[in-house]
Amino acid sequence: MNNTDNIWHPFTQLKTDTNTLMITKTKGVVLYDDHGKEYIDANSSWWVNVHGHSHPHIGKAISEQFNTLDHVIFAGVKHPKAIELSKRISAILPEKLDKVFFSDDGSTSVEVALKMAIQYHHNNNSDKKRIVALSGAYHGDTFGAMSLGERGYFNEPFEPYFFDIECLDFPQDNLDNHFLDQAKEIFAKGDVCALIVEPLVQGSSGMRMYSVQQLESLMKLAKKHDILIIFDEVMTGWGRTGKLFALDHLDVHPDIICLSKGLTGGTLPLGLTVATEKIYNAFLSDDKKKALLHGHSFTGNALACAAACASLDLFEQKDTWINIENIVKEHSNFREFISKHPMVSRTRQTGTIIAIEIKIEQQTGYFVGIRDLAYDFFIENGILLRPLGNIIFINPPYCISSDQLQFIYSKIELFLNKISKDA
Ligand SMILES: *Cc1c(COP(=O)(O)O)cnc(C)c1O
Repeated sequence: MNNTDNIWHPFTQLKTDTNTLMITKTKGVVLYDDHGKEYIDANSSWWVNVHGHSHPHIGKAISEQFNTLDHVIFAGVKHPKAIELSKRISAILPEKLDKVFFSDDGSTSVEVALKMAIQYHHNNNSDKKRIVALSGAYHGDTFGAMSLGERGYFNEPFEPYFFDIECLDFPQDNLDNHFLDQAKEIFAKGDVCALIVEPLVQGSSGMRMYSVQQLESLMKLAKKHDILIIFDEVMTGWGRTGKLFALDHLDVHPDIICLSKGLTGGTLPLGLTVATEKIYNAFLSDDKKKALLHGHSFTGNALACAAACASLDLFEQKDTWINIENIVKEHSNFREFISKHPMVSRTRQTGTIIAIEIKIEQQTGYFVGIRDLAYDFFIENGILLRPLGNIIFINPPYCISSDQLQFIYSKIELFLNKISKDA
């Protein structure tokens, strides 16, 4: 069926990809289409929905907030929900991360982090300008964020407009320290302003994982050279890695952290960039130009703040963590089992994220045929699961039941059996 509505969908070739699902209702981990067919939301609706859909506690908070204060300008004005959220956020982050800047989504939280890091050096009259990222990174689709990310298929037309960065090779395995040698060389030049990473798990590049030890070594090197460290926890935040944040696995801490996606439980768009007092202080001056002159119309939106506070309430409940623990265990058992499948080349897991790499002849990449085959197969079987190329991954809402997990696992096995027969 052709796309006959007026919607220009994201990441979609609308001439050929015409099997758009019509979802009319959501509840818990289940999406319902216009014929009443159910789909398990195995990737939490682009990795945002952490507590399940239409959660009554979040719904009540949004509704009450709407009847009290829906939205006000955030320059020169503050409101109780934003104050509550910023206090609660700094309370759950390491001691020094306590200045909270509000924006709209993951990309804008990264743009703000970049601007903070660049202007920090500018305000301090330092000429450090170079930004360092990991190859294969994804930090969003705005221009600054795209400049940091993997170049190629997704953003080729825009490449001439990107600024230059330095890229470290992504570690091949836990023993690969080549990227540290590269970092040593680049950092030694003395002109690096900031290092930005997706800590422990690179999301869009295929849920690629690296170790706590590797990340800590890189951070210690950066600290030695007085380089600001930015953690893009847009994907890894909110329990995904088994702890509230990826940084909770580490003894070294970043200077800036970007949060979004699961921040509001996946109900409303909101981005936060949290910085240390050291960075914040560099913007204090009698000179107005030294302020962070950045903002968005919906900055500090009160409904989004209320949703985020309600989501934080849920993270304070034991049940949420029992559910997370359960997913971690079930994933781990399934991983052991499925890694022996002849169609599986590699598997990996961090917390509630499990990734399974399918063996294919061609090079791996987003556009290989196996991706579409898998997507259609899972849709047919009542699971919404968007593989990244030949990589199938599950990062479900935490309220998913063991039965629902087993159902997804069994369909993954069925899919692998099917392509193995066809091969
Ligand atoms: C999704 C994502 C972003 C971009 O967030 P948007 O809300 O889509 O703009 C940035 N960084 C990471 C690590 C992400 O996974």
